[in-house]
Amino acid sequence: MDCIFCKIISKEIPPNKLEYEDDLCMAFHDINPRSKKHILIIPKKHIPTMKDVIADDEITLGRMMMVASNLAKKHEMNDYRLLISTGKTAGQEVFHVHLHLMSAPS
Ligand code: 5GP
Ligand code: ZN
Repeated sequence: MDCIFCKIISKEIPPNKLEYEDDLCMAFHDINPRSKKHILIIPKKHIPTMKDVIADDEITLGRMMMVASNLAKKHEMNDYRLLISTGKTAGQEVFHVHLHLMSAPS
């Protein structure tokens, strides 16, 4: 499948600094950071957009939020933003769901 994030999951291409990995998700630094700390948390399952999630994805989505919270603590982010752009006109460029964790300026 021609999906850059699936290729990172399958280790076909290296992540930009791996932060976390388990059976359901993976977290690594954004290649083009828009804040001092900018981490992406992605499901291992290929889900193109939040429009495509199904009930079975609930645990995965919950895990991604927990990972984001834990990584924000680990990186001593004071305040931060969590963002999932959904659809082209909302700015989604990679069509594999990803949660942006972006530190606020401190
Ligand atoms: P979107 O605009 O779809 O919400 O965000 C996609 C994000 O993925 C962008 O912030 C972009 O910098 C990041 N990105 C795209 N390709 C790669 C890649 O190969 N490696 C990493 N680490 N980040 C990527
Ligand atoms: Zn994918």
